[in-house]
Amino acid sequence: MLTKEQILTWLEEVKDPEIPVLSLIDLGVITDVTVSENDEKVTVEMTPTFSGCPAMDYMKRNVEEVLAKNGVQNFEVRMSFDKPWDSNKISEKGKIALKNFGLAPPPEYNLILDLDILEHVNCPYCNSDNTDLKTPFGPTLCRSMHYCNNCRQMFEQFKPL
Ligand SMILES: [Zn+2]
Repeated sequence: MLTKEQILTWLEEVKDPEIPVLSLIDLGVITDVTVSENDEKVTVEMTPTFSGCPAMDYMKRNVEEVLAKNGVQNFEVRMSFDKPWDSNKISEKGKIALKNFGLAPPPEYNLILDLDILEHVNCPYCNSDNTDLKTPFGPTLCRSMHYCNNCRQMFEQFKPL
C-alpha cells in the first residue's frame, strides 16, 4: 500500500536544478500528494516558482522519474496555480541548506514584501547585516547580488517573492 509519507520520502531526492542542496519538498513547490484508494493512483501537485525560471519542466520530469523508479505505475504530475508559491514556503531545513550553499535565504515576510528587506540581507558567510544590494538581478532572475561590508565578499540571495 502506497502512502503519502512514503512518496514524500522518495521525492526528497528531487533537487532544484540550480541549487543541488535544496529538495523540491524543502523549496515548497510540491503542494500536494494524494494516493487514491481504489487504484493506487498517485497524484503530485506542483506549483511553479519564479516565472523566469525555466526549470519547472525539468523538475516535473524528475518527479515522474522518481515515481517510476520506485515502481509506481499509475501517476500524474500536475502543475497547478491554485496555491501560488512564495518564498515563505521554503522550509527551515531548506533555508539552512541555502545558507550552507553560500546563498542568503530569503527572509520571512508578512503580506507585503517591503523592498527594505532586500537592502539589508544577512551575509551567509559572517551573518553581518552590514551589506549592500548591488543588483536586484543576479545570474538568474531568482537571485539578487549583494556585497558584505564586513567580510568584503560578494554573495547572492535567493530573492524573497
Ligand atoms: Zn560577510
